[in-house]
Amino acid sequence: MSDSIFSRIIRGEVPCHRVYEDELTIAFLDVNPVAPGHTLVVPKEPAVTLAELSDGSAAALGKVLPRICRAVCKATGATAYNILQNNGVAAHQVVEHVHFHVIPKTDSQGLGINWRPGPLNPEAGAELGRKIARLL
Ligand code: 5GP
Repeated sequence: MSDSIFSRIIRGEVPCHRVYEDELTIAFLDVNPVAPGHTLVVPKEPAVTLAELSDGSAAALGKVLPRICRAVCKATGATAYNILQNNGVAAHQVVEHVHFHVIPKTDSQGLGINWRPGPLNPEAGAELGRKIARLL
């Protein structure tokens, strides 16, 4: 559990441009947007990473995310967007409170992705797939 800047926003101690709120979630504009309309969708539960989040908060987020994507696209005119969700400092998480970024994408603005995929080894993939499935 954390008491980050987002907990302070949820408690109303820090101002934000709120676009949505219900019992379990809140959404507001990012203070340093990558593109106009860059919105953060945040559970009120102060979990640090997605894996720590309760099923109830996860379901509430899953329900509201598509609605927020639709509204952000309509408001900005964007027809493409990325969802970004960072977990852990090594994965570029700065605020230690679960959040989803909704980032409109145009030719000139939005999320840049620079990943280096490689082919999946069939044997290693089968073994790892079974291992993950056993842990679910
Ligand atoms: P992260 O790297 O943790 O996934 O992203 C955290 C995001 O929170 C950043 O995009 C940053 O601009 C945003 N952020 C940090 N502090 C505040 C704040 O006080 N208000 C708002 N609206 N956004 C914030």
